[in-house]
Amino acid sequence: MLPINKKQPGSWREALKIVGKCPICSAEYKTEHARLFAKKESANLVHICCGKCQSSMLFMIMIMGQGLSSVGMVTDLSFEDASRLYSAREITLDEVLEGHDLINTDQFIFEVKK
Ligand SMILES: [Zn+2]
Repeated sequence: MLPINKKQPGSWREALKIVGKCPICSAEYKTEHARLFAKKESANLVHICCGKCQSSMLFMIMIMGQGLSSVGMVTDLSFEDASRLYSAREITLDEVLEGHDLINTDQFIFEVKK
């Protein structure tokens, strides 16, 4: 956990110091490429696009007491996709099972073409 900067207490942008570099090309992230798409209590969901290789990451940045913590993953989602899908309805277990069954039928390619 990284101590919070006294000048910017509680800022999710402070966590970019933890994130630091793009995991794909190692270029330094620039704060202007990071955008907040959701916030709930101490958790901030941030999308960042690398200025060099254009790969994207999603981070959950948590501001807790005297420090910050973050977890991230590489994504192919744009900022707009992340914002839209965050508020979308969750898929159900039945829908997942139905999709699995559909993939394993001879009709799958015809269903996809619809
Ligand atoms: Zn990169």
